[in-house]
Amino acid sequence: MLLLFGMAPAVEAQVKKMKIYISVDMEGVAGVVTGDQLTPAGFEYQRFREFMTQEATVAIEAAFAGGASEVVLSDSHGNAENLLIEKLPKNVLLVRGFPRPLEMMQGIDETFDGVIFIGYHASTTNTEGVRAHTFSSARLADVRLNNVSMSEGSFNAAVAGYFNVPVIMVSGDEAAVKEVTTEVGDIEGAVVKWNYGFHSAKTMMPEAAYDLIREKVKTAMGRIKSFKPYKVKTPVQLDVRFKNYRPAEVLSYLSIVERIDAHSIRFIGKDMIEATKFIAFITNYEPGLEP
Ligand SMILES: [Zn+2]
Repeated sequence: MLLLFGMAPAVEAQVKKMKIYISVDMEGVAGVVTGDQLTPAGFEYQRFREFMTQEATVAIEAAFAGGASEVVLSDSHGNAENLLIEKLPKNVLLVRGFPRPLEMMQGIDETFDGVIFIGYHASTTNTEGVRAHTFSSARLADVRLNNVSMSEGSFNAAVAGYFNVPVIMVSGDEAAVKEVTTEVGDIEGAVVKWNYGFHSAKTMMPEAAYDLIREKVKTAMGRIKSFKPYKVKTPVQLDVRFKNYRPAEVLSYLSIVERIDAHSIRFIGKDMIEATKFIAFITNYEPGLEP
């Protein structure tokens, strides 16, 4: 008893907590090619929720095996109610439901040591992505930070960078992985499918994708100290190009918004938090919202 009492602080000091944040999208999951897999109305959706959940699970298990003491997961696709909670390891916490101010990165803060992206897709400006889009496939034609077109992966890396947390690994189609590793830096990438078109790809089988994701997370955890946070210059110039004309027109009524051209607006945020909340607002707000 006495001995334990005396030793506790020293033991505690030796065991550094390591927290990993995992943001999970669905378009970059092995086998996903069309809306048939991506929305509750799709005839393959229920099965693909299982594959998405399993891709997340192997990443979680590899993070814990690599030294993580805590893992927070965010369901970041569609309605954010895709992951099957009864199938996930019981020692994780899950962020569910939209809207939320930090979108696909809700729950991240400066206490985390690394970020993993699972099931990510390429940006709306990329001609080689499967289901390529940025935040809203129906509504946005480009999202730029400080004049650089962003993918969701690089935008979300900048959100993590605000908290000084590096991205360590990404999985998705070839174009998605290439974009994030080009923009953000030398992170581990798991390519699970190759584009033939917006709605077509050559894909790995789910079990092979699990093996690859597990392996890449393991490698990333093994060199977690080598990754650098991705930071953007502040204030942040956020340019959004809408597919339609009227969102740009109506948003320009606000004095914080500048109309750049028929389809584009500009917002200057003091940091990535303001920029992310602005994106959350323009992609979620409509006057008919209820309750
Ligand atoms: Zn998605």
